[in-house]
Amino acid sequence: MPQEQSTHAEQHVVIIGAGITGLSCAHALLTTAPHLRVTLLESQPTTGGVIRTSPFAGLPHVDEAADAFLLRVPFAAQLAQDVGLSNQLTSPESGHASVWRNGLHRLPNGLLLGVPTQLSALATSRLISPVGKLRAAFDLALPRTPVASDSIGAYMRRRFGNEVHNMLIDPLVGSIYAADTDNFSLEMVPQLHTLASSGRSVLLTSRRTPKPAANVAASPIFGAPLNGMGALVTATQHAVETLGATIRLNSHVASIEPVSQEGKYSVHFLANGISETLMANHVVVCSPAKHSTGFFAESAPQVSQLFAQSEHASVVMVALAVPKASLPQKASGSGYLVPKPEQRFITAVSFASQKWAHLNTTDSAILRVSLGRDAMPLHEHADEELTSFVLADIKRHLLVDLEPTAIRITRWKESFPQYRPHHVAHVEHLERHLSEKMPRVHLAGASFRGIGVPSCIQQGAAVAQRIISSIS
Ligand SMILES: Cc1cc2nc3c(=O)[nH]c(=O)nc-3n(C[C@H](O)[C@H](O)[C@H](O)COP(=O)(O)OP(=O)(O)OC[C@H]3O[C@@H](n4cnc5c(N)ncnc54)[C@H](O)[C@@H]3O)c2cc1C
Repeated sequence: MPQEQSTHAEQHVVIIGAGITGLSCAHALLTTAPHLRVTLLESQPTTGGVIRTSPFAGLPHVDEAADAFLLRVPFAAQLAQDVGLSNQLTSPESGHASVWRNGLHRLPNGLLLGVPTQLSALATSRLISPVGKLRAAFDLALPRTPVASDSIGAYMRRRFGNEVHNMLIDPLVGSIYAADTDNFSLEMVPQLHTLASSGRSVLLTSRRTPKPAANVAASPIFGAPLNGMGALVTATQHAVETLGATIRLNSHVASIEPVSQEGKYSVHFLANGISETLMANHVVVCSPAKHSTGFFAESAPQVSQLFAQSEHASVVMVALAVPKASLPQKASGSGYLVPKPEQRFITAVSFASQKWAHLNTTDSAILRVSLGRDAMPLHEHADEELTSFVLADIKRHLLVDLEPTAIRITRWKESFPQYRPHHVAHVEHLERHLSEKMPRVHLAGASFRGIGVPSCIQQGAAVAQRIISSIS
């Protein structure tokens, strides 16, 4: 086909969605193949998607959603370095987090995403009852548990019992994915999946793997730009524009259609209300699956139906500023999680100004409070109700009546893709159908192969690499 013999200069890649996935895809494309023509179409007036940083309570940069990225994998730190932020990165001050169960209990040492790896550390924790600890030790003796159901809850409850699952594993994993771990794919949480599939007993298997607590002091687990996660978006946007990409904001994509004979695609979108079309050799869909079903309604209805099966959870992030002196001493460390049996509204509280030195520069303590999760949507409540939920829950948890001097409420509707059991098979099925109908339309981003910022960056870069390989 003619386009297969084309040079980079003639190739146009259209990326839908200028969240961190779309931006990192553009960055990877243009750093390796600078002669490509790259256009990003973004429906919103700004880039960044669910990453947003804004001024709050006298501080110039307080995140409204993600506030850090994992350093265990290199992708986010590498992008930060590539876009000139390497000397502007920081890591959390205070590592220890707690779980609220009739009071705050420090998380025991040696957890891997809430999964115990040392019975000795669990034994000294007052978070888990003696019966719960005994049940957790069954893991050493139980026969192998199949992973075929692909549910974190089904697997971990069998290994460690309900109490350890409800008080440790579900809150930790649930806080990352806004998830109900009984209805969430084990395979999509690779650290847990590897642990579960590599041996009979989780505890014995984890003895053979490095302990998470061992090297915390030497190398931090999380990193973030000093000016908030928005700085990563801004710097990446600047880099891709400098490399020659065009970013079209307020451009809402409606459909993608193959152009017969030419091996190209027409991408139809509304730019500030006016219909436009771009022709592309490759299209990268980096918008959330559920919001992209219309793209294929005419051209690949089966793909459209598979997209429509995606589910998302909604959350609300509430930032509070309170006088430092009003926080009780027990409110130490980086914050606390509220396990489902104890949840009313709040799922987690981050003591942001204790966690981050750069947020600890005023007389106010900054709290970032998460509300809602899968099967507990709260985003439709009015601001006053959400505020009263937060203050009532904090009173219950910390036994204090907080009087905030500033409050900021951000609703993140349908922002967390929920990876149901067998999600990987679902995505593979989806990609097979798509590649039969439209082989140069690619998928990347939080809906597909991982939600964390590093994983989104990795997906964007991997698709870029595939495109470059196919045209060189
Ligand atoms: C509250 C919250 C806290 C989080 N905390 C962390 C954290 O601490 N660490 C971490 O690693 N991760 C965190 N995450 C997850 C991570 O931030 C996201 O998974 C990631 O940023 C998603 O990036 P993305 O580009 O794939 O998707 P998005 O950010 O959703 O970007 C998709 C873009 O597509 C655009 N779009 C949608 N439809 C169309 C259309 N029809 N036409 C054109 N454009 C369209 C959207 O406007 C959006 O800009 C958090 C997420 C949330 C919501």
